[in-house]
Amino acid sequence: MVLQLMALPVRLIELVQLVLVPLCFVLAWTLVGLIAWNLMMAARDAVARATEMHKIPCAECRYFTNDHRLKCPLHPKIALTEAAIDCADFEHTGMM
Ligand code: SF4
Repeated sequence: MVLQLMALPVRLIELVQLVLVPLCFVLAWTLVGLIAWNLMMAARDAVARATEMHKIPCAECRYFTNDHRLKCPLHPKIALTEAAIDCADFEHTGMM
């Protein structure tokens, strides 16, 4: 009787291990996969954002003042923003 009572926790532990080991394996690799996916998406978004920001022409425009108080006398609200990408008043400085 005593042996049967002592064998019960051992069987319970074996049963829990039988379920928990594969479950933890799957959860751990799922977590690794999610982290890798997030890193790839963050890198992709950063590249897309950098590509978009490089389309802003203000730094090469003759009207750009390079002064934070008035970046552009023609369009001060859109200078150095994405709204300036297709600016009709852009004129190249001709310095590059
Ligand atoms: S004129 Fe247009 S492109 Fe030139 S600095 Fe002003 S906003 Fe930028």
